[in-house]
Amino acid sequence: MARYIGAVCRLCRREAMKLFLKGERCHSEKCAVEKRNFVPGQHGQDRKQRKVVGYGLQLREKQKARRIYGLLERQFRNNFEKAAQKKGITGDNMLGMLERRLDNVIYRMGFGTSRAQCRQIVRHGHIQVNGRRVNIPSFETKPNDLVEVCEKSKKNPTILAARDATAHAPCPNWLEVDRDALKGRVTGMPKREELVQIQLNEQLIVELYSK
Ligand code: SF4
Repeated sequence: MARYIGAVCRLCRREAMKLFLKGERCHSEKCAVEKRNFVPGQHGQDRKQRKVVGYGLQLREKQKARRIYGLLERQFRNNFEKAAQKKGITGDNMLGMLERRLDNVIYRMGFGTSRAQCRQIVRHGHIQVNGRRVNIPSFETKPNDLVEVCEKSKKNPTILAARDATAHAPCPNWLEVDRDALKGRVTGMPKREELVQIQLNEQLIVELYSK
């Protein structure tokens, strides 16, 4: 599956906010948003004052969500269409589905420092769900799923370093994690009010795709 392989700090600068795409660096003073908080490109500084409204606002919100979760346009659109077919509020369904992706669950459990790293951990076959190896980052976990690092990968230095580096990060209410055993369980569905760290207005994305 294709993925974005360009400079990720540019994406944060474009959205004028930290999207936390680079793991530990995002929490340091080296973060590009802290050092150069203006739109990338030759005329970036001139665009600082420009007011974004209407379609532009909806587009920026969608791009932000896509970039946070590391999805390309087609994958993101498919995700939205599936969410729209479910019962309930489309925006909440969409965020819930994005949160329950296996790469995001690994990230929330603290077995990787960024979603991109977690995606690679999954792709390389280090993760199993309910005792079976799963190497599909978009795999949708559901309540009661047991997610763990495979036995042979429990000494993997990258995973161990990530676990130590994310020791301070709180675990969301819809997950239960045993960090020492490198495993955890999905205990419920993520609720919108629990996703406070995701600074998104999902309603604008729904409006954009409903045109
Ligand atoms: Fe974004 Fe992290 Fe780069 Fe800062 S260091 S600009 S938060 S990816």
